[in-house]
Amino acid sequence: MTEPAAPDLKEISEQIVRCRLCKLGDGRARAVPGEGNAHAEVMLVGEAPGFYEDQQGRPFVGPAGQFLDELLKLAGLSRSEVFVTNVIKHRPPGNRDPEPDELEACDTFLRAQIAAIRPRVIVTLGRFSLAKFVPNVRAMRDVHGRASPYNGMTICAMYHPAAALHQQSLRAVLEQDFRALPMIVARARARAAAEPVDPPGQAPAADKPPEQMSLF
Ligand code: URA
Repeated sequence: MTEPAAPDLKEISEQIVRCRLCKLGDGRARAVPGEGNAHAEVMLVGEAPGFYEDQQGRPFVGPAGQFLDELLKLAGLSRSEVFVTNVIKHRPPGNRDPEPDELEACDTFLRAQIAAIRPRVIVTLGRFSLAKFVPNVRAMRDVHGRASPYNGMTICAMYHPAAALHQQSLRAVLEQDFRALPMIVARARARAAAEPVDPPGQAPAADKPPEQMSLF
């Protein structure tokens, strides 16, 4: 029997727009599913939409997004090459931290987006995003800029760009980490090229149990 086809990005976005699994669906102006290249090698995962994102239905379009664009440039990347999304797809009121039931409700959507894109590198922006992939997260100061294998992909932990808007000293840290991103992508490519291809009928690498997060 053939497996049902995985939903594509458009279908996932439509499900996000219709979603009422948690209370955030009631208060938002627009859902923010994420956007970018459906075949991106690099996927960036932020926390949750803020005021501007909620108004426009697009991720990272406010001040943190402008800084993210500068950071991408340092990595030699543009928005059209990457896919940008958030852990939470609807704006929490007053930009408060996401609550456990909200994180749970959005979990399927992020997983489905990752399965549809199959990026080589996932850049986590901030602690809520990193916590999606690494359960017991150490302090960001200890792990930022580091990369680790994860389900046939690479996870790279970064500070959230908004953190640098509040704390100037983090600006240079984020800039340095993004300058190193091309090297992390190159290593992920080399790793993928060296790995044996799954024989037909076996689960693809992304469906295998998570590997140990050795570097975190
Ligand atoms: N902060 C986020 O985490 N995501 C956005 O889309 C905007 C700001």
